[in-house]
Amino acid sequence: MKTVLVSGGAGYIGSHVTVELVQSGYNVVVADNFSNCDRTCFEGVQKILGRELPLEVVDFCDAAASDALFAKYHIDAVIHFAAFKAVGESVADPLKYYGNNLESFVNVISAARAHGCNNILFSSSATVYGETDKLPVTEQSERQPATSPYGNTKQICEDILRDCVKAYEGIHGIALRYFNPIGAHPSALIGELPRGVPANLVPYITQTAIGKRECLSIFGNDYPTPDGTCLRDYIDIVDLAKAHVAAVTRMVDGRMKLDYEIFNVGTGKPVSVMELVTTFEKVNNLKLNYRIAPRRPGDVTAIWADTAVGEKELGWKATRTLDETLASAWAWEKKLAGK
Ligand code: UDP
Repeated sequence: MKTVLVSGGAGYIGSHVTVELVQSGYNVVVADNFSNCDRTCFEGVQKILGRELPLEVVDFCDAAASDALFAKYHIDAVIHFAAFKAVGESVADPLKYYGNNLESFVNVISAARAHGCNNILFSSSATVYGETDKLPVTEQSERQPATSPYGNTKQICEDILRDCVKAYEGIHGIALRYFNPIGAHPSALIGELPRGVPANLVPYITQTAIGKRECLSIFGNDYPTPDGTCLRDYIDIVDLAKAHVAAVTRMVDGRMKLDYEIFNVGTGKPVSVMELVTTFEKVNNLKLNYRIAPRRPGDVTAIWADTAVGEKELGWKATRTLDETLASAWAWEKKLAGK
């Protein structure tokens, strides 16, 4: 049995990935410093799996602690999620982002390397593509200059991984570029738990529907798109988690074609903000309070994935429908509210 270390494994994406890895036959060590999440999702993961998992409370900015973790377990692959992720906060406090997101990744790679763990998977983002009119974006599409320190940390971490793979014999790296992950596990035992006012669309929608927020603002309806609202590629969280299992398996089975590979993780289908809102209303049989607001600075008009490379190389494809995903997001919100 292979062992995978999931850094940031108690967070939104990490918890769903942990479930899919264990259900696919991997040993998983979850590591998190709980700086941006509580124990809810980790406990939910154990409930879904019906057993306890090893949990290490570690801050990967602590190089000695990172090293000790790799010394304690025999780790075959590491998936690195542990990072800050709020775009606005990164603009207000760039040093917090550069300090944490870069240092933790450098420490993870160094510790992995020191202990013979040669497989490193990095959690990247479609934000690295920036604004482009060549849609859908392929893995070969040029990256645009980052528009926030957060986005810049994703680009720099990709470069760190690429350079380490090139320099250090034996190391393999995969960067997965996520589009817009949404939804929750069908059990409603794990899901997204934003702290404070959600910056992302779907948690804002579910919190408005439950009455925690008064009204959803739709940021701009004058974009050059069919209905004037922005287009995004919303990828179901369980589908996204399964892409990680496919990527890790490709690595540990020695099936990579290049030592450093990049894959888009999306559905390949653009959905507008307005479509997302009306689909949420339809599948959950409710009316959402919303208004049209000015554009949000920094938003790109449209972005969605070309998924051909992932389908061919990973044998992975998104399968859950938008209806199912939005029903799962609502089930999770209701569960949180005790309804
Ligand atoms: N959005 C919105 N209202 C909100 C939050 C987001 O209209 O309260 C829009 C946003 O302008 C973008 C889309 O929803 O077009 C997705 O935004 P999100 O922040 O979820 O992800 P992003 O694509 O920015 O990473």
